[in-house]
Amino acid sequence: MSQDHESALLARVPDRLYIGGQWRAAAGGRTLDVHDPATGDVVRTVADAAPADGLAALDAAAEAFPAWAATPPRHRAEILRRAFDLLQERTEELALLMTIEMGKPLAEARGEVAYGGEFLRWFSEEATRIHGRYGPNPEGTGRMVVSQHPVGPCLLITPWNLPLAMATRKIAPALAAGCTVVIKPAELTPLTTLYLVQLLEDAGVPAGVVNAVTTSTAGEVCEPIIRDPRLRKLSFTGSTAVGQRLLEQAARGVLRTSMELGGNAPFVVFDDADLDQAVDGAVAAKFRNTGQACTAANRFIVHRAVAEEFARRVTERVQRFAVGRGTEDGAMIGPLIDARAVAKAAALVGDAVRRGATVRTGGSAIDRPGTFYAPTVLDDVAPGSDLLREEIFGPVLAIVRFDTEDEAVRLANDTEYGLVAYVYTADLARGQRMIERLETGMMGLNVGVVSNAAAPFGGWKMSGLGREGGAEGIQEYLQTKYTLTPSPFVPGPATPGLSAPSLSAPSPS
Ligand code: NAP
Repeated sequence: MSQDHESALLARVPDRLYIGGQWRAAAGGRTLDVHDPATGDVVRTVADAAPADGLAALDAAAEAFPAWAATPPRHRAEILRRAFDLLQERTEELALLMTIEMGKPLAEARGEVAYGGEFLRWFSEEATRIHGRYGPNPEGTGRMVVSQHPVGPCLLITPWNLPLAMATRKIAPALAAGCTVVIKPAELTPLTTLYLVQLLEDAGVPAGVVNAVTTSTAGEVCEPIIRDPRLRKLSFTGSTAVGQRLLEQAARGVLRTSMELGGNAPFVVFDDADLDQAVDGAVAAKFRNTGQACTAANRFIVHRAVAEEFARRVTERVQRFAVGRGTEDGAMIGPLIDARAVAKAAALVGDAVRRGATVRTGGSAIDRPGTFYAPTVLDDVAPGSDLLREEIFGPVLAIVRFDTEDEAVRLANDTEYGLVAYVYTADLARGQRMIERLETGMMGLNVGVVSNAAAPFGGWKMSGLGREGGAEGIQEYLQTKYTLTPSPFVPGPATPGLSAPSLSAPSPS
């Protein structure tokens, strides 16, 4: 990939806010720099929105809402489908852009374009399947009509780790349902969103339906939007701590909320598991996105009888990983997003080692430009180690050993989170017991990656509220209305002894 090619692509990415169908500078002309985490270089400078810009974006979303809500579902569907098609055509550009601003290896960035695109396709299909129901009430005195309506203007806040897919996972169902949106991407990865918004405009999304504000002051820009009574929905993907703060803010306006928050996924390997499959799954579940995924396996809970062999095989695989800038041929592990992420990985590994863990490979930052941490395997991690409680969000695979199924369940559930769990066993009955016993919103049984646009993605406990994707995903952007109408008079043969129901009969309120 030549430098000129990258520069030409970066120069084409919009660098301003997108509000009401116009690209405009931030109030006061503020800007923020975007860095390549593999080099530390500034790659682009974009508008840095102020609170007034956020409210202008909400103005545009509120103004566009009635017309978009009234747009025929088939028309909304076709726009989303065109966006899906354009995304396929522009895969290479978008993948490269994500690699530059976020650091993930190019092959994985292409995978994210494929995954992120599926939300556009899936919800283009769901847009025409927003149904209600009609039927008699039990008393026979009336007909109940249940209809579904878009909730209204939405604020969508997305993280840096999957900058495309987290955006399409929210924008696509919102638009399919007839909602308008303001999207605020992470400060560290605004370019992907700006590129996507341009693509949506090219696909025919009308002015004001999607608005984008990039900012270095997320709290200051978002809070006035959340407190504005015109906003009706907040969808957030990010850390649990920020999600809790936003839920407090959303309570004032009794907003609909979707919260896709942090995880601490257990990866349980039983002694009857196919170890080849388990090692493949472990590598995918741990090292995808250089470990920076909410679905990343955080704790490998391995039966003592196979733990040594599992650790040996997984270490062998990890030692073969090529580390480098995501554009380098064969790079499998890229940089972490920033220096804070490297410091966090180092602190968690340091704590585990002080408590007695063995470093099988890696265990330190890599001395090169950018923010790289060596892919690491830690064995025999002691109970109480910080990395068993906290999301590592880095390429560190931590193994603890267990002896009984009950102990495995206890260890797996010993977390305030409940986003996803992975279980490897050849015993179907045991697999079914795990489905019943693990406290988790999602589970991979003998697979290491579960995400799919057609599936309900989301967590239990402190991993969040609501679901994205699947048939459930569009419901998050719809509200229900129940209407009672009188029973129609239908002439028919008289039935001896039965009189017509009276609408004036007393009924519970
Ligand atoms: P984060 O710090 O919570 O940031 C997420 C988003 O919230 C960013 O856009 C951020 O903007 C914004 N934000 C921060 N403070 C805010 C405030 N006071 N008001 C409004 N917005 C605010 O999380 P992160 O570190 O970027 O992302 C990693 C976390 O996301 C991990 O915990 C991971 O598990 C979670 N995640 C969850 C899922 C899921 O589906 N469950 C998917 C992906 C990631 P700035 O960037 O400008 O600070």
